Amino acid sequence: MAKPIVAFVGRPNVGKSTLFNRLAGKRISIVQDTPGVTRDRVYAQADWLKYEFTMIDTGGIEPKSDDVILKQMKRQAQIAIETADVIVFIVDGKEGLTAADSEVAQMLRRSKKPIVLVVNKVDSKKDEENLYEFYNLGIGEPMTISASQGLGLGDMLDEVVKHFDGLYDGEEEDEYIRIAMIGKPNVGKSSLINKLLGEERVIVSNIPGTTRDAVDSYLETDLGKFILVDTAGLRRKSKVKEEIERYSVIRTYAAVERADVCILMVDAEEGVTDQDEKIIGYAHEMNKAIMVIVNKWDLIEKDDKTMVNYQKDMQAKLSFLSYAPYLFISALTGQRVHKVLEVAKMCYDNYNKRVSTGILNDVINRAVLMKEPPIVGLKRMKIYYATQVATKPPKFIFFVNDATAIHFSYARYLENQLRESFDFKGTGLEIEYRERK
Ligand code: GDP
Ligand code: GDP
Repeated sequence: MAKPIVAFVGRPNVGKSTLFNRLAGKRISIVQDTPGVTRDRVYAQADWLKYEFTMIDTGGIEPKSDDVILKQMKRQAQIAIETADVIVFIVDGKEGLTAADSEVAQMLRRSKKPIVLVVNKVDSKKDEENLYEFYNLGIGEPMTISASQGLGLGDMLDEVVKHFDGLYDGEEEDEYIRIAMIGKPNVGKSSLINKLLGEERVIVSNIPGTTRDAVDSYLETDLGKFILVDTAGLRRKSKVKEEIERYSVIRTYAAVERADVCILMVDAEEGVTDQDEKIIGYAHEMNKAIMVIVNKWDLIEKDDKTMVNYQKDMQAKLSFLSYAPYLFISALTGQRVHKVLEVAKMCYDNYNKRVSTGILNDVINRAVLMKEPPIVGLKRMKIYYATQVATKPPKFIFFVNDATAIHFSYARYLENQLRESFDFKGTGLEIEYRERK
């Protein structure tokens, strides 16, 4: 299930990053960091009560003058309206209301998205003096916080998560397999989508009541119902390059977050780029189903070893994606295009797979018999019991004697054993080790 996306919007210096850093969950991962994913803090995971969500900080570079600030805030608001489920609009309780705040508030209000108005820097009672003017923004009761002191955050989060209930309930889209096409401009994403749409029966062009992107295409085949999402967001021209980069990352990130299957598409003549690696790295970190398509295969001069060697080279570069299937196609000639949805469906089925607890524990017991866990420090890990607690992606909890005794390479060994026994090709897996005393 996709996590709700919460976007932070506000003037420079109101405290967006301070708040963001406070709320960002410190997820301890025994998996090594994905190469290529730079921690530019555009997004982070957070949780509150039973809810997990993704935060997006729309704030970019520091603008110099007031009119630039307004322009940038409008862009921030726009990206938040496009991508977020809930928008947190942050204003500065010490500075008070500004004209830019009012303009942006108006824009947000018109979007009809849920908005939580947050007045930051209310460090003490005397800072509450300015509070009343914020009611004039017309976006409801202001929540007062002090991000730096950690005050009022619980009440604010209560207000944010209130809007999550029912967000994805009863959505017709639930029956659809959501596929995000990831890749640089010109690799052939729209050619492939058009080809797929042209070959298959298109059932709906627009599902009423949904607020999704206009670039989504809906189609139904014998394999099921699909939504194809073109993530082309990099083509927009602008003077401010850094800012555009940030916004296109946010857009792509949101598309990946909501997808079931992510297809990385590369141009056969060009190969994988650093940008590809970074974006598919997000998908990998979110444990999505993933496949790789090498397009324009018609342009490559080849013999019987070309494909195998090409795949080996790519796998060496994208070593963290060893579970992803590869497909070599030509969207132009149609070569192997009929395989695309077939492979995507296979990845999805594995992403949605549930295995029985009995067989799962048999597999783990056998794996431990074949290869004992190593001693870490002075301890040897003992696994008492394992269970699958979720699908999309498959999530397992291993109950162990001591979580500090897990060795990275042994965790990888166990994951590989699961993959071999149950066929999890094309999907990420989440494995949590939990101590049971
Ligand atoms: P951003 O530009 O919106 O991301 O703002 P920052 O998070 O970088 O914060 C801007 C400045 O405001 C920094 O100097 C922070 O230390 C300060 N700041 C953030 N939160 C608070 C707060 O709750 N109270 C006070 N007094 N200062 C704060
Ligand atoms: P997008 O920007 O990723 O959506 O890429 P497009 O679908 O717009 O394709 C970019 C260009 O590549 C167009 O000129 C296409 O005709 C061409 N193209 C797409 N797929 C293929 C292919 O398989 N082989 C060849 N030779 N050209 C292709």
